[in-house]
Amino acid sequence: MPLSQVDPEIAAVIDAELSRQRDTLEMIASENFAPRSVLEVQGSVLTNKYAEGYPGRRYYGGCEHVDVAENLAIERAKSLFGAEFANVQPHAGAQANAAALSALIQPGDKMMGLSLAHGGHLTHGMKLNFSGKLYQVAAYEVDPQTFRVDMDKVREQALAERPNVIVAGWSAYPRQLDFEAFRSIADEVGAYFWTDMAHFAGLVAAGLHPNPVPHSDLVTSTVHKTLAGPRSGVILGKEAFAKKVNSAVFPGQQGGPLMHVVAAKAVAFKIAAGEEFKVRQERVLEGARILAERLTAADVAEAGVSVLTGGTDVHLVLVDLRNSDLDGKQAEDLLHEAGITVNRNAVPFDPRPPMVTSGLRIGTPALATRGFGSTEFTEVADIIATALKGGADVAALRARVKKLADDFPLYPGHEEW
Ligand code: PLP
Repeated sequence: MPLSQVDPEIAAVIDAELSRQRDTLEMIASENFAPRSVLEVQGSVLTNKYAEGYPGRRYYGGCEHVDVAENLAIERAKSLFGAEFANVQPHAGAQANAAALSALIQPGDKMMGLSLAHGGHLTHGMKLNFSGKLYQVAAYEVDPQTFRVDMDKVREQALAERPNVIVAGWSAYPRQLDFEAFRSIADEVGAYFWTDMAHFAGLVAAGLHPNPVPHSDLVTSTVHKTLAGPRSGVILGKEAFAKKVNSAVFPGQQGGPLMHVVAAKAVAFKIAAGEEFKVRQERVLEGARILAERLTAADVAEAGVSVLTGGTDVHLVLVDLRNSDLDGKQAEDLLHEAGITVNRNAVPFDPRPPMVTSGLRIGTPALATRGFGSTEFTEVADIIATALKGGADVAALRARVKKLADDFPLYPGHEEW
C-alpha cells in the first residue's frame, strides 16, 4: 500500500519538504541534494537486511549480496581518497568520530582539537559531547587578528599540553589547514594525528583541496555534505589501524550496519570519482569566491558587514556581523523571509550570546548541485548583500529568489516521492 494511504500525515510532510527544497535556495554549508540514484538505494529492500560484522565475516546468514555492496563501497572509498583502508559502516559523522577516537586513545587521555566556538565540531572535545566527557581536552583557537589557525601557536600549545591525539578539521572555517604541519607537530609530541574532513571531503575527492589522507593516521568524514551522498559517515586510514577501527565501529559503537546506506555510499563514491562531480566542485568553489567578493564590497562594508579572513578557500563564507545592526538571528530570519536558507553562526570571540550570534555561515554546495554557475552565484550573492545592507524590499528579493529556483528545478520530472 502506498505511503499516501498508509500514513497521509507523513506523506504530507514529505510533499511539503520537497516543495520547500524546490522553492527556496539552500545555502546551509553542511547540506546538499543527494542524487536520485542515492535516494533510490536508501529506499530499497537493503534496509531489511541485518549484517553485523564485515564482508565475508558476518554474524548473520544471507549476506552474500550486501557483502558485494559493502566491498564496492570500501574499494571505491579507498580509491577515491588514496587510503589504505576504509570502514564504511558509521551511521553518521559523529559515530565515525567516536570510533576513530576510541581506536586511537583511551578514556582519560588528552585530545587537542579546534574549539567549537572557533569553528570546531562538537565531537572535537565539546564539554557536553561524549568527546569532552570521555577525554581530557586542550582546545586550540584561531588567531584573534587573522581568524586563522596559527600553526606556531598550535605547536607551542601541543608542546605544553602533550595531547595523545591532535585533530584537524572544522565545521565553520573558511580556509585550508596545513596537514603537513599538523603531522609534524603530532610526531614531535608523540600524538596521533586525526583529520575530520566532513566538510571539505567533496573538494578533496575532486582534487581541489589538499588531501589529508597521506598525512593522517585516521581521516573521518560525513558522506552527505560536499560529497552529496547519503547521510552517514566513513573512516579512512593506514592499514595498521584497520583492525582497531573495525572493532571500534562494530562491536564497539554500533550494531548492524545500515546496508541501504552503505550501498548508497558506494553509489556516492562512484559519482564523486567522475568528471562531472569535479566540474560541480569547481562551481562550488567559484560560487563561494563570488559570494565572499560581493560581501566585502564597499557598499556592504558601509553597513558593518564583512567576511571572516577576508575571503574563502573552500565551499563556505563566514559573514561577520559584529559591526552590523543585524545580529546573526535577525540576518538568518531576514534571508529566510527572502527564501534563502542559511544558519547563524557564532564568530570567534563573539560578543553576542550563542542563540543570537554575530555571524552567518553560507555555503554553495547545494546550489552547485542544483546547477548554479557564476551567473547565478553572482545574482544570489547580490540578493544576500542587498538584504544584509538593511532596508531592502524583501518581497522584491523573494521574487529574484523565485526566478532562480524556477530556472533550476530540483529533481525535475519527479512529482511524487
Ligand atoms: N564532523 C564535522 C566537522 C561536522 O561538521 C559534522 C556535522 O556537522 C560532523 C562531524 C558530524 O556529522 P553527523 O551530523 O553526521 O553526525
